[in-house]
Amino acid sequence: MIGADVGVHTVMELIDDLRAEVRKRKIEDASELQPILSEKLVELLKGDGDPGLRMADSGITVILFVGVNGVGKTTTIGKLAHRFKSEGKSVLLAAGDTFRAGAIEQLEVWGQRVGVDVIKQQSGSDPAAVMFDAVKAAKQRNVDVLLCDTAGRLQNKTNLMEELNKIFRVIQREIPGAPHEVLLVLDATTGQNALNQAKLFGEKSGVTGLVLTKLDGTAKGGIVIAIRNELKLPVKFVGLGEKMDDLQQFDSEQFVHALFA
Ligand code: GDP
Repeated sequence: MIGADVGVHTVMELIDDLRAEVRKRKIEDASELQPILSEKLVELLKGDGDPGLRMADSGITVILFVGVNGVGKTTTIGKLAHRFKSEGKSVLLAAGDTFRAGAIEQLEVWGQRVGVDVIKQQSGSDPAAVMFDAVKAAKQRNVDVLLCDTAGRLQNKTNLMEELNKIFRVIQREIPGAPHEVLLVLDATTGQNALNQAKLFGEKSGVTGLVLTKLDGTAKGGIVIAIRNELKLPVKFVGLGEKMDDLQQFDSEQFVHALFA
């Protein structure tokens, strides 16, 4: 489990749990341990059940994506836009990362690929103003889903968190009940760093769920067990490549099975 990035702290807790279970059930055969451990991990990851996305009861569903640069936010937005479109929903994208050079263009490339419009302003403009425009356009066009990209620079954490809060407030003010999800995107290959990012964003930006990207590589992504254990944040999707279809809804059982494969 440590090799799979679960992290020492959580592994120690799981061992304590397992030891208690062994005593309780009077287990003597070591081969029974792994199934019990798998059961416990699935239980921990599932929480109240593998959650889908929270959608608006009626009207526009707004989903905000947060996370540091390079984790796969833009790619995930593109993949999710494709997923919603194939379900027959209308989608609009908001280019809220006005800071990183090329971020707006990259989102536009995804928009063209998937066939959805992108609401943008110039690079360097106020992201909250972009969100205001995007919400207005979403209302005018009566779209089903608005997916919002945000900046991921970490050099200046305070500013970034203030910026995210401002975006949050604009969306909340314009559409009561929104954003319906704030998804923190994490790169599975970054191990314990992902836990630190989850702590940082989780506390400050009202994260409601996780997307774990780059699980198509060698990383097993065990860090989400630690994140679930310590921060109680559910994983909603996993990224399995760079293409449009490489996004899957998270399945705890399949994930735990792959962890021990
Ligand atoms: P952002 O800065 O958070 O918006 O990250 P990007 O969406 O630009 O992604 C950074 C890099 O990771 C790009 O080269 C993507 O193609 C790649 N990427 C994103 N998701 C995945 C994934 O699930 N698997 C793999 N292999 N690469 C991914």
